[in-house]
Amino acid sequence: MKKEKYKVGIIGATGMVGQRFITLLADHPWYDVAVLAASPRSAGKAYKDAVGAKWCMDGEIPANIADMTVMNATDDVEKIAGMVDFVFCAVDMNKDEIKALEERYAKAECPVVSNNSAHRHTPDVPMIIPEINPEHLDIIPAQRERLGTKRGFIAVKSNCSLQSYLPAMAVINEKYPIDHALVTTYQAISGAGKTFETWPEMVDNLIPYIGGEEMKSEVEPNKILGKIAGKEIVPSTDLAIECQTYRVPVSNGHTAAIFFSFKDGVKKPSVEEMENMWREYKGEPQTLELPHAPKQFIYVHTEAEEPSMPQIKTAREIDGGMAISCGRLRESTQYDYKMVSMSHNTLRGAAGGAVLLAELLTAKGWMD
Ligand code: NAP
Repeated sequence: MKKEKYKVGIIGATGMVGQRFITLLADHPWYDVAVLAASPRSAGKAYKDAVGAKWCMDGEIPANIADMTVMNATDDVEKIAGMVDFVFCAVDMNKDEIKALEERYAKAECPVVSNNSAHRHTPDVPMIIPEINPEHLDIIPAQRERLGTKRGFIAVKSNCSLQSYLPAMAVINEKYPIDHALVTTYQAISGAGKTFETWPEMVDNLIPYIGGEEMKSEVEPNKILGKIAGKEIVPSTDLAIECQTYRVPVSNGHTAAIFFSFKDGVKKPSVEEMENMWREYKGEPQTLELPHAPKQFIYVHTEAEEPSMPQIKTAREIDGGMAISCGRLRESTQYDYKMVSMSHNTLRGAAGGAVLLAELLTAKGWMD
């Protein structure tokens, strides 16, 4: 890190994830919010007027943000790039538009830390869960070469749903390779950018379908568990995941039920050993003591002592909503083991995960 404070922009600042960025960055020790940008509908307005009744965070809009003028995310790219050290991006546009927009910021020498899915499968764009695959940042020079940039690049976080189950699996998989898993996710309505006020049909309801989500949950883990080869990240072909997703009447917090089996020939670890691996696991965010790193990455509830845990209401806010909580690890009759795992979808799964990724990039000098 070369600077004491970095100036950041939030592209999509009026949206659900953008609002989370604002609350997470309000007192950030390394970052000052210098730019807010959104669609032409909001551009030119004071933030408080642009966001209006869509503000859905606990507490008021921070005072230093409320009167900032919202810029135009698509027309003001070069101007914004000149005002900040990097941007967070979370916009609701079509995939091709988002891809092009993020590349425009990167080519204007402005690094982009993205919440959007558009670039997740671009082979030289790292898709990072900071505790699991920080080494994928080493692909950035190859991406800069392709884009013709010196500073600019795009780094993305993965889909929110798989952050509720992949961390627990990845920690075990490192020592005991997993062959296949069946995963069912129970996803909060904020994952669709909604609240119970804006989506009253979800009260007392369950929808057994979330468009595109099952594919993301099955495919994205392979990139995260992949390896850099030459100028791209080559996805792993070792772990096969099949997924069923549900939208459930929960405001925040995605839960996953996971059934998994190890590869042939792998000596099955005991429940206690896997629980200890979770308790003891430290990734780079913990070692580097990044501001948003949870002290404990994975919290463990044992089946013997706390069979009804983790529950959304008590687990989702642990360590600022950045921790993963696991429980109910036990033998399965059809697979080797089964378990439950959860995380906060707009904190760890979205804005918080992106802030942690930005902190990792900053600590490692990629933002200089
Ligand atoms: P959202 O609440 O609908 O907000 C969308 C944002 O995009 C708003 O700031 C909006 O500005 C802006 N926008 C829309 N059209 C635009 C345009 N043509 N040009 C520039 N800006 C435009 O969406 P969200 O839930 O925050 O999600 C944003 C992104 O994050 C999506 O790609 C989503 O898939 C991803 N994501 C969301 C979650 C989650 O938990 N919600 C989790 C992970 C990833 P206006 O207010 O001016 O229209």
